[in-house]
Amino acid sequence: MPFRTTGKYDLVICDIDGCLSPESHAPIDIAGLSKLSEHNRFAIQHRDRPVVTLCSGRPIGFVECLCRLIQNTVIPCIGENGVWLWRPEDNSFECDPAITAEHLEIVNEARKLLRSLYQASGVVQQPGKSASVALYHPDTAFLRSLVSTIDEEFQKRNWPIRVSMTWLYINCDLPYINKATAIDRLINQTGIELERTAGIGDTMGDRFIADRVSWFGCPANSEPEIMKAAAYVSSHEEVEGVLDIIDQLVR
Ligand SMILES: [Mg+2]
Repeated sequence: MPFRTTGKYDLVICDIDGCLSPESHAPIDIAGLSKLSEHNRFAIQHRDRPVVTLCSGRPIGFVECLCRLIQNTVIPCIGENGVWLWRPEDNSFECDPAITAEHLEIVNEARKLLRSLYQASGVVQQPGKSASVALYHPDTAFLRSLVSTIDEEFQKRNWPIRVSMTWLYINCDLPYINKATAIDRLINQTGIELERTAGIGDTMGDRFIADRVSWFGCPANSEPEIMKAAAYVSSHEEVEGVLDIIDQLVR
């Protein structure tokens, strides 16, 4: 049986960084997450409001942890920009079956190349990614200056890798994998209707969420460009913004 509520929406698909956790490495607002977990407990018990799941570029282990923290026990969460689903119902992980062994090898080659080019400058590859590479450097302006060169290096080799900048990371992803393709998998598996889904995000990476869901909201700290896709922009930041957005949905 698909998760179905008596409310207008069954599911909220929410980004993590800049939405539920600070964009920086500052501690997560556990009081805010606690309110969200209370919401999810109610949603699952009473089926009167949408349950909140996660959709993030973060490694799936990080997403699984937050999914459990916010008490989502029913709907898969999405990690690594769509590579992985984790299902809280049976603790199973699913890598997108469209990813080929050949492309996994290319990602590995890309990892080697990026290490040889930038390791000496202190660029670190985020641990925990399996079919993508995320690069970090404490000097974000320096990191941003590398984006076009990395893109060119991949193109020169005909590697099918999409290069994009988030607030603090460079993401190198397979072009046929994104948050939208993972949402399609989630929808297929859960039977939830897209018309009964809402989304929350703060950067242009979340346009893939906005494109799929029927209603989209942004916290106050979002990129101006993604705010254009929003039906509602909260005056609150990060998790307080998310709680305010969810409040709009259950009115
Ligand atoms: Mg974000």
